Amino acid sequence: SPQIGVLALQGAVAEHVRALTASGAEVRTVRRPAELDGLDGLVVPGGESTAIARLAAPVQMMEHIHRAHQDGLALFGTCAGLILMAREVSDPAALAGFPRIGGLDVVARRNGYGSQLDSFTEQLDVTGLDEPLEAVFIRAPVIEEVGDGVEVLAESRGLSVAVREGRVLATSFHPELTPDHRLHQLFVDMVGAV
Ligand code: GLN
Repeated sequence: SPQIGVLALQGAVAEHVRALTASGAEVRTVRRPAELDGLDGLVVPGGESTAIARLAAPVQMMEHIHRAHQDGLALFGTCAGLILMAREVSDPAALAGFPRIGGLDVVARRNGYGSQLDSFTEQLDVTGLDEPLEAVFIRAPVIEEVGDGVEVLAESRGLSVAVREGRVLATSFHPELTPDHRLHQLFVDMVGAV
């Protein structure tokens, strides 16, 4: 079965481990570069992108993930994870110059839904899924621009909220916080289909 890591510097780690395990992957948490060895896929969870980037910096974890991705590692970024994979963040000062992973041709704006929509839940139609998916948004990033090579898998309020580009999957919401594991299954299948 595919070997999938969950970056465990900060954020919703245990929920991803559970969802991936239930989807048939062999899962381990990852904190240091050497732990990327042998992985087919990596989930970068939600939490605080600033905190994750800061904790990653001393061991250059973002750069190591970037390189592993160029060598074939599939990536799944949720919420803060999406911010760390975006080609560009529209408020880069917030990341204080800490390196990010990149790999996904989108522009993301942190906390882009504003205070009234700080947290909300929606039923989403997702390409490839038969039934709608319950999506939990928590201080979610807004995907402001999507590059030509990026497939939009779901939209909400006129904005892309789930995207795929080659071996990168990303959502602005938290698929690990609901008992529905279909997006994790999609990632596990994507990783397994080398
Ligand atoms: N607002 C957070 C950030 O900027 C993301 C929130 C989340 O991951 N739930 O990183």
